[in-house]
Amino acid sequence: KKLGMNEVRREYLDFFGKKKNHTVLKSFPLIPEDDESLLLINAGMAPLKKYFTGEKKMKNNRATSSQRCIRTGDIDRVGMTERHGTFFEMLGNFSFGDYFKREAIHWAYEFLTVNLEIDKNLLWVSVFEDDDEAYDIWHDEIGLDSERILKFGKEDNFWELEVGPCGPDSEIFVDRGIDKAIDENDNKPGNDDSDRFMEVWNLVFTQFNKNANKEYIPLSHPNIDTGMGLERIAMVLQGKDNIFEVDVNQSIIKEIENLSNKKYKEDEKDDISIRVIADHAKAITFMVSDGILPSNEKRGYVLRRLIRRAYRHGKLLGIKNEFLKSVIEKIIDTYKIEYNELIENKDRILSIVSKEEENFQKTIDSGLDILNSYIKNLKDHNESVLNGADAFKLYDTYGFPLDLTREILEENNLSVDINEFNKLMEKQKELARSARKSDSGWSLESINIDSFDKTDFVGYDKLSVEANIIGL
Ligand code: ATP
Ligand code: MG
Ligand code: MG
Ligand code: MG
Repeated sequence: KKLGMNEVRREYLDFFGKKKNHTVLKSFPLIPEDDESLLLINAGMAPLKKYFTGEKKMKNNRATSSQRCIRTGDIDRVGMTERHGTFFEMLGNFSFGDYFKREAIHWAYEFLTVNLEIDKNLLWVSVFEDDDEAYDIWHDEIGLDSERILKFGKEDNFWELEVGPCGPDSEIFVDRGIDKAIDENDNKPGNDDSDRFMEVWNLVFTQFNKNANKEYIPLSHPNIDTGMGLERIAMVLQGKDNIFEVDVNQSIIKEIENLSNKKYKEDEKDDISIRVIADHAKAITFMVSDGILPSNEKRGYVLRRLIRRAYRHGKLLGIKNEFLKSVIEKIIDTYKIEYNELIENKDRILSIVSKEEENFQKTIDSGLDILNSYIKNLKDHNESVLNGADAFKLYDTYGFPLDLTREILEENNLSVDINEFNKLMEKQKELARSARKSDSGWSLESINIDSFDKTDFVGYDKLSVEANIIGL
């Protein structure tokens, strides 16, 4: 059934809200409330944890939502795979000790095959190897062929943290056709590098509580937590090649085409940049709308990194000036029906992003030229490692962040001498310290704190790993 993305969202919330008696929840903001373990909301269940543990109660034990999510852990896959964004919406239906496996599986199947009219012959599922109950429901009750029910181990089909509620899950995949196969063995789900058998929905059966002794104690009131990527399912229905080509993205892609004078789908490298910009600009829009400001730590750093990455991909496309503003305007236009607050926050979003972009533009322009000359020099001499001193000069004099230097070098199959860079950085800090002591006029502000080593920033990577664990 051909549905626009907004219609799919509506269809889903109506199905669980009206037909299956769930309370329809508005998407929560991206900043987790009262939750130190998480940087940004990365799954529909993330803002609802306290309802799963029973700390909080709703009148109704069933809820459903379309939750805006950010997954920084997927940042390197955006634009490269057909299915990953740092920003996406997760459709979810939740049971807080109410219904369990049987209903979750039957309803998911009903929604996909009856409401969305997806051909059942395209569906494959995975279950946890010891979860006979889920296997039997798929096999005996739904009637799925045994070849289409794959059994995977803990790694793939068991959701857990160190301690707390946990349990097996069951994932639903759509076969997007042999054309999408990456090799001859790509004939069933399980290959993370392939987009052929695309995971659309994860059904998590939280039936145990894991205690400090690593014992799995069955919960008397097991929960259901499901998550389906809205863009992914819309892409299946619309027969598109990737999540950035679904209907709602079209005006956004068009705007990037206009700004860059490039045509989407003419050059693979350009297409990656166009998709990255479309994705990052969305993440940026919603992050700023939810009150995050660019900074050098935590969420602010994620935001800053997204703005800089988007900007740099604009450069790769040959865009000369500030451009994020006009992309964001298109995004607000597209999303304002579902997210009214974007209209209210529009001016603030645009001015914050413009200011950050403008600041970065100044530093990056001169830095890029110099880095390109270094790259040319390395290639001319058949060398592959940029020395730490040059990287440090870029950083120190031109405010060029090391992670960006690294990324650009990697694209050219080159690397950088990190050890030497770090030594120089240490020396610099030492200098600044003693200079401050002697009060010679040096201050932290005169060192460019905008640019700093990614490896210094434990928070980002650590939390992005966590981002994927907690995300269903
Ligand atoms: P994948 O294996 O494809 O990376 P996942 O197993 O990491 O997906 P889950 O954590 O199970 O995904 O999240 C539930 C659902 O959310 C997925 O089935 C998918 O439809 C959607 N989803 C997850 N990550 C992304 C993303 N980066 N962009 C768009 N949709 C996503
Ligand atoms: Mg997966
Ligand atoms: Mg999954
Ligand atoms: Mg993933």
